Amino acid sequence: MRPYIFNLQHFSTHDGPGVRTTIFFKGCPLRCEWCHNPESQLFTPEVMTNEDGSEQTVGSHYTVDELMDEILKDELIYDQSGGGVTLSGGEVLAQDRGFITDLLSRLYEREISVGIDTCGVAPTRMFEESSQYADFYLYDLKFIDDGMHRRYTKGSNHLVLRNLEALARCDARILLRLILVPGLNTDDDDIESTMLWLKSHRIPIEHVDLLPYHTYGMAKYRKLGRPVNIFDIPSDDLVQRVRNTIERYYEDVTVGG
Ligand code: SF4
Repeated sequence: MRPYIFNLQHFSTHDGPGVRTTIFFKGCPLRCEWCHNPESQLFTPEVMTNEDGSEQTVGSHYTVDELMDEILKDELIYDQSGGGVTLSGGEVLAQDRGFITDLLSRLYEREISVGIDTCGVAPTRMFEESSQYADFYLYDLKFIDDGMHRRYTKGSNHLVLRNLEALARCDARILLRLILVPGLNTDDDDIESTMLWLKSHRIPIEHVDLLPYHTYGMAKYRKLGRPVNIFDIPSDDLVQRVRNTIERYYEDVTVGG
């Protein structure tokens, strides 16, 4: 099935190096309680009702040609800035295999850098195949503990960890992204066990980016008529403490993209 896209953002500077076009695919296998793009979760279009009662349909089809037309508008800027395209979501690797492979190979032929922003829950062959074309992966790891992963994202982390190992075998460039939700995954023990797992499985992490939980986007739950959970926002001290712990394992750590 041709994927739906819910946002296409030009001049993005937080989704990998340089200036990028980020394409947000609609549909995700997880249901993270803190998700700030709840409109990305269903694989089909849906209606958001604004405060003034007006309605907006989220999700439209594009052909690969149409996407390429949008992407090529900024080709010069990618060259000048060292940027490219980031495929995000939702979960891009859980979308139609033929469509994604076609898009990736077209970008590869044009020598446009591609980053894949992933939650890790997609068929392993999608990771292996995409690694032939992708320049790097922005890989979200939410919990190393499967029980916590199941409770707060409604899915197991087994595939997340297996796909991380698959990417390591493919020599992919992995930029790890860790969402920080106080009390859920920010204790020293949580961070230490995550780092130890990565080291013991020889996952070559090029960079770690810490993403402190925030409440932007929560109004979208109301517009979709869905309940929302609000968590505490991590303090600067907490974020710094996590950063210090991770820096004992990896040199290149940043906060917030
Ligand atoms: S993986 Fe990302 S897009 Fe999917 S539910 Fe979680 S936060 Fe939202």
